[in-house]
Amino acid sequence: MLSDIQISRLHQCQPIADIAKKWGIEDSELSLFGHHKAKVSLDVAKRLAAKPQAKLIIVTAVTPTPHGEGKTVTTIGLTQGLNAIGLNACACIRQPSMGPVFGIKGGAAGGGYAQVVPMEELNLHLTGDIHAVSSAHNLAAAAIDARLYHETRLGAQAFTEASGLEALNIDSENILWRRVVDHNERSLRQIEVGFGAVNGPVHQSGFDITAASELMAILALSQDIDDLKQRIARLVLALDVDGNPITAQMLGVAGAMTAVMVDAIKPTLMQTLSGDPCFVHAGPFANIAHGNSSIIADNIASKLSDYVVTEAGFGSDMGFEKFSNIKVRNSGYKPSAAVVVVTLKALKANSGIESDNDINLPDLARLSAGFKNLQWHINNVSRYGAPVVVAINRFPTDTDTELEWLQQQINTTAAFGSAISEAFAKGAQGAQDLAQLVKQASEQDSQFCSLYQTEQSIETKLLTLAEVGYGASGVSLSDKAKEQLTWLNTHGYNALPICIAKTPMSISHDPKLKGVPTGFEVPITQLKVNAGAGFITALVGKVMTMPGLGIKPGYLDIDVDQNGEIVGLA
Ligand code: ADP
Ligand code: MG
Repeated sequence: MLSDIQISRLHQCQPIADIAKKWGIEDSELSLFGHHKAKVSLDVAKRLAAKPQAKLIIVTAVTPTPHGEGKTVTTIGLTQGLNAIGLNACACIRQPSMGPVFGIKGGAAGGGYAQVVPMEELNLHLTGDIHAVSSAHNLAAAAIDARLYHETRLGAQAFTEASGLEALNIDSENILWRRVVDHNERSLRQIEVGFGAVNGPVHQSGFDITAASELMAILALSQDIDDLKQRIARLVLALDVDGNPITAQMLGVAGAMTAVMVDAIKPTLMQTLSGDPCFVHAGPFANIAHGNSSIIADNIASKLSDYVVTEAGFGSDMGFEKFSNIKVRNSGYKPSAAVVVVTLKALKANSGIESDNDINLPDLARLSAGFKNLQWHINNVSRYGAPVVVAINRFPTDTDTELEWLQQQINTTAAFGSAISEAFAKGAQGAQDLAQLVKQASEQDSQFCSLYQTEQSIETKLLTLAEVGYGASGVSLSDKAKEQLTWLNTHGYNALPICIAKTPMSISHDPKLKGVPTGFEVPITQLKVNAGAGFITALVGKVMTMPGLGIKPGYLDIDVDQNGEIVGLA
């Protein structure tokens, strides 16, 4: 089979303006970026406000291997399959970060014959939204340091006299806003800035990957530009010397940050290999952030089609939980069905059986030992009330015997049904069974509900997420987290949902605990307010908000050939 980039390159894409027109987007609502990408105005949803909302299908997965189990492949393949059986479906996915593109995981355009094209445009800069997020984020970092410098240099009173601004009395030990860059850069995790005199007061800082920026979460959760602006205004950037929050509004930088984001708020329209519409918008990771594409894109897509298919990052304990408890709470847009993607290799990797055998090869003993992981994810998703369809993403080395065994086992679970998806190898045609099943499932009653009430105490919400969300026996808070908890309660940030930052490689906090871990306590190391995004981030264990590059990163294969074409993207 051809590589993903070969398939993408050989494909004759349709002009994106034609696709936009076919799906009812007016010329005035479209800003073209070349021939194959266009930003779409939020006016579409306003113009079509009277139209009923499309059925929303959320794609999640079992506990993945580091290479991913094919949620994006299935999201794109299912969209192709739904259109191929005569329905109208639109996909909504996140914009890939260049961290994974040049690191281990590769791009995030899907793969094989279930791709968004041109894949190199999607995987690299697209229409610049991630750069806009980085830029707006770093503007706030520069603003807080400049203010600290001038207030320190002049003293509060002289500062006010010279600037006409009230002194903020920033505590240099409590500057909460770090920097971001869209690369895996471990050497920037902790830095010291300032270095005194004309460089400003010395203090600790560091970089996170842009996908972890609170602004990225804000972009994904905003309803429109006013909402975006209000959320930016609420961002807590630092504490003053008395421990009170200093917001972007108080610093006077919220308007300028919003100005940097005015184009980023519009989703980018691209196409699948079958010419179906796909919106690409926002890119928060699901381990260190909330892991879902934008509400704005879903809202637009929901007026243009009858089915919106979207993906929540990593396993159902991660992106799907945050979809349910954070995204749906903000959007009010509930899913009609959920798709749990499973691969034979992921179940073998979750078997807990140590073996030198390649997980891609047949091994019924390991497969059956790993099945409990799928069962757990089916039950976890079912708890939220939407019908669950299992998509078995078929890999080339999978045998019929093992696939049949798995389908029979799924029949004994709470799932509505299962289908083998061959979207990767066969595109739309390989996803038609799955599409039929998803259509049927989405016609069932869906009583979607979230896991906790935001008014509950922070401790109760954490405990619910740990016990019900991960099957833990409890939570433990570090001394620092306990102090932060008191601060959050004192400053009125207690009624927010929780975004847990933890490893995606286990349902627990420990990547080594495979299958269905039990009897563990979830160690909360830090609690941070994300007042703009509207959640509290709880860091669990040693989670890094800035990844590093491995020993053999993806960039080694990436090049531009003599024809000026990009090669080696995976
Ligand atoms: P996820 O969204 O769950 O992280 P992706 O859809 O990005 O996963 O797929 C992860 C990787 O696996 C991609 O490189 C993709 O091309 C590849 N892949 C997915 N499904 C298949 C399949 N059925 N056969 C071969 N490769 C696949
Ligand atoms: Mg994906």
